[in-house]
Amino acid sequence: MLVTKQTNGELDLVQIVQLNVSATDKETVIEQATQLLVENNCVDPAFAQSMKQRETRANTFLGRGIAIPHGIAEDRHLIKQDAVAILQIPQGVEWNPGQTAYMVVAIAAQTDGHITLLQTLTGLLQNDEQLQQLFKTDDEQLIVTSLNNSSEETEENEVLPDFAKKIEWTLDYPNGLHARPATKWIETARQFHSSIRIRHADKTADAKNLIALLRLGVRQGASLIVSAEGADADKALSVMHTLMKSLSAQEKADAELALKRQKSSPSWQAREDLAAIIGASAAPGMVVGQVYRKITHTLEVPDETGSLSDNASRLHRALKETKAQLQILSQETEQQLGKQEAKIFLAHIELLNDTDLITLVCQIMADGHGVAWAWNTGVERMANRLSALGNPVLAARATDLIDVGNRVLFHIAPELSNTTETACPDHPYILISDDLTPSDTAALDITKVIGLATSEGGPTSHTAILARTLGLPALVGGGQGLLDIANGSQVILDGTGGRIYIDPNDDDINSAQEWITKLQAQQAKEAETRQLPAKTTDGTHILIGANINLPDQVAEAISEGAEGVGLMRTEFLYLERNDEPSEDEQYETYLAMSKNLEGRELIVRTLDIGGDKQAPQLALPQEDNPFLGVRGSRLLLRRADLLQPQLRALYRALKDGAKLSIMFPMVTSVTEFLKLRAICEDVRESMAAPSCPIGVMIEVPAAALEAETLAKHADFFSIGTNDLTQYCLAMDRQNPTLAAEADSLHPAVLKLIKLTVDGAKDHNCWVGACGGIAGDPHGAAILSGLGVTELSMSPLDIPAVKARLRQSSMDELKALAQKALEAETSEAVRQLKGGE
Ligand code: PEP
Ligand code: MG
Repeated sequence: MLVTKQTNGELDLVQIVQLNVSATDKETVIEQATQLLVENNCVDPAFAQSMKQRETRANTFLGRGIAIPHGIAEDRHLIKQDAVAILQIPQGVEWNPGQTAYMVVAIAAQTDGHITLLQTLTGLLQNDEQLQQLFKTDDEQLIVTSLNNSSEETEENEVLPDFAKKIEWTLDYPNGLHARPATKWIETARQFHSSIRIRHADKTADAKNLIALLRLGVRQGASLIVSAEGADADKALSVMHTLMKSLSAQEKADAELALKRQKSSPSWQAREDLAAIIGASAAPGMVVGQVYRKITHTLEVPDETGSLSDNASRLHRALKETKAQLQILSQETEQQLGKQEAKIFLAHIELLNDTDLITLVCQIMADGHGVAWAWNTGVERMANRLSALGNPVLAARATDLIDVGNRVLFHIAPELSNTTETACPDHPYILISDDLTPSDTAALDITKVIGLATSEGGPTSHTAILARTLGLPALVGGGQGLLDIANGSQVILDGTGGRIYIDPNDDDINSAQEWITKLQAQQAKEAETRQLPAKTTDGTHILIGANINLPDQVAEAISEGAEGVGLMRTEFLYLERNDEPSEDEQYETYLAMSKNLEGRELIVRTLDIGGDKQAPQLALPQEDNPFLGVRGSRLLLRRADLLQPQLRALYRALKDGAKLSIMFPMVTSVTEFLKLRAICEDVRESMAAPSCPIGVMIEVPAAALEAETLAKHADFFSIGTNDLTQYCLAMDRQNPTLAAEADSLHPAVLKLIKLTVDGAKDHNCWVGACGGIAGDPHGAAILSGLGVTELSMSPLDIPAVKARLRQSSMDELKALAQKALEAETSEAVRQLKGGE
């Protein structure tokens, strides 16, 4: 036996050669190989089991008499030192039916070494004559010299037993586990030495492998088992759990906002018999223009065989160059479009670290194919596997894989990059395609492209996200018919309504143009006048606030026309972190928020945790009905350890000059509020801090019905119409099936708002609203007519709401509100908009 140590590229590798091994089956070979590795202190004995497990999942026969058994990715911790054990078996051993191995290279290597090892090993396969010599030689050094090393590992979504330590979690991201949260998961998992598995039904993934995770196809509501094994398993599970849960609130907020914008945007009314292709709205706005159908020629990748070692080096180089290019693209995208959009390219880099893919490509090369052909085929096979699962989330990942795969391909064979697409027109056009990859979208010539329409994809696809950021009207999921629209033909694309009108006549085009002009003029006017107060024609000033959570969002809110902050959701200080914000940190945030507002009003809502807003670091007990459970003020009254530091931080800020009001969420009874108020007073007194207004959020029907009593004790109300709607209508605010019906303009909700205003009237208690409907111009008009005097909303909604309120007198708004109260349905309330 010869043992050597060699530095190969970036790797330090132990090589152990054993000649003349005789074995009757591959299990024995694997055990012998493990034995050699164990003797040299390279692996734990359990590595034999790991290699055997790999054999049940993937074919490790590389070709031409060589097999490369290796462990599974989750067992990486069993490797103490990167190594290969090379067993020469002159008589051969059947590796798989019809495949005989004469040399077995058992690999124990970490992910990073994978590509380098395969590159050198693949190089060996090119020379049959040399191989035959190696299979028989009695010179160990000859093997070492010619081999120059090897190794690898992989991953499949097979059923694997959970590790002993585990937790269960139900994924509640409305858009399922897509690339952005998945990337965060793997980044976190990789901070631990332990192996971490994630199981969904009968499929398991290594939590450190992006493709494997995405391949699980996890949708909202799916139950996941996260299990771990290793010295830091407990910590890993707790941090993973926290991270997974802490992403929920942002995922939900994004989905809710997208839905709300879609619901409230006005749309053009087309002639009834005008032919249209209906898809999903991906980005609002309307354009008329010529279609340019992006024709992607099927890539003809020639199979040019070359020397295997050359091929392996070309692949290695192309992967490196592509990763560097993606890093740059990510930085540029971050500068142009923002951090969120840039993340997709980092996710692409992860796709290139997939060891399954690299192994597959090496096997194809070892079968005698050229590197470009092998890469292309490997990528296609992996992408087909993803899209064959019939899951839209995975289908989108298949597109990503093809996208990033082409980047690598064009590095391997730059001459292919000119053959895939027809040249784009040099006049403005509406781009039609089956699906746009993130690279396509990022590379769009936005001086020419005026709209986007894709036959595939959904409103949460990257195309949709980027289109919204670029302000291009876009439709997605238009179906196959979209691709039949003739190149160069004139169409009307309504991104708001998710429609593309084909064959419009002159009248249609004129009408659409007029609508666009009107809309543009209206938006320009709204933007121009957004700094003016929302004063009705007869002079009533409705105060307009912004719903923002961090001091650095103040500038944008003010520039959109905010006169203060009507809702600062403090639970957002708990997001995407594993610990709780300290009293000091909270104090600094509140003070900075107030300072940035330069004397404008600030309403800070105390922690509203529970329901849809989980703060995993608090490890609150699981509830069957969290929306009806211990949430909001109910939690604060049970957890002095949360309430006290927050109140102290608020009063410290007040003492140091902040101007703010305190507001309590989810108050259901007067008793609750009186207790909260008394606690505030105790804290204030103990700190000798100035007092401030203390308000109640009206979010449950009980509070609306008891408004008169509450008003006697509260300084102000703010109506949380999101929750008020869900509790009044008994409709989960996150259930997409009920999204259309869960309408805050339902007459029943409006009656509760009326009760609230009436209850407050005689008690010097002003009434505001900070739920989503306050940011809808029609909703804002009705709320004001009902007697709400302050409206707080997302900053981008402010200009349109202000403009709407300035159009009417208070009497007109009151009359509108009266009609809304008398309407029989929410549809009827929405239709009042037309008749205003
Ligand atoms: C509401 O419920 O309307 C509200 C503003 O609070 P949140 O959306 O944070 O629950
Ligand atoms: Mg609420």
